[in-house]
Amino acid sequence: MQIEYTIQYSNRKTISIIIERDRRVVVRAPLNTSEEMIEKEINKRKFLLFQKINHPQKYENLKPRKEFVSGESILYLGKHFKLEVVPYEIEGIHFDNKFYISKKNQVKASQLLKKWYIKQAEEKIIPKVKTYAKNLGVKYNTIKILNLKYRWGSCTPKDNINFNWRLIKAPIYVIDYIIVHELAHLIEPNHNPEFWNIVSIQLPHYYRAKEWLKENGHLLETEF
Ligand SMILES: [Zn+2]
Repeated sequence: MQIEYTIQYSNRKTISIIIERDRRVVVRAPLNTSEEMIEKEINKRKFLLFQKINHPQKYENLKPRKEFVSGESILYLGKHFKLEVVPYEIEGIHFDNKFYISKKNQVKASQLLKKWYIKQAEEKIIPKVKTYAKNLGVKYNTIKILNLKYRWGSCTPKDNINFNWRLIKAPIYVIDYIIVHELAHLIEPNHNPEFWNIVSIQLPHYYRAKEWLKENGHLLETEF
């Protein structure tokens, strides 16, 4: 298992590792600290970091429960859309600038919405991965939309690329960034300048996506 983290260099004297509210791992390091040194520090605390990242209660207040009543908002492609519970019959979820669900399906709404999200994720993310892979000239083995925990995407040693279905809640430019990020790992496994160079050639404004993730990352980790 690998821990994804970002590095913030400053005038400080020691390395510290922080887990943000959205579970992102941030390493604060003195200027001139080598990447290997940071990697080593991360590895030393790997087990503890994993425990903390996966701690269920610590971030519980970030997980409001949906009741699936009319007027509630549902996140999709970075925007909030209203839910409307209707008295007539609809198969599953209907989306048209608003989410519609039958009153009789209200009890299984969370299941239906998850299924709908996964379908959208497959339809929107997979073709994009193919396009970006072509642009980057990389070959992958499989692309899967999965129920990943606390990660947007991952890239396995066998060149299988996986994405969290919750990514479909993010704006398109964030989806693009996560895709390019994972594909760039097929060329460069580390987050070094070379890696960020590959990303920025595809997405010159990728830092906007990083900003969005920083602010909204926790939204994507909730079940709904
Ligand atoms: Zn990465």
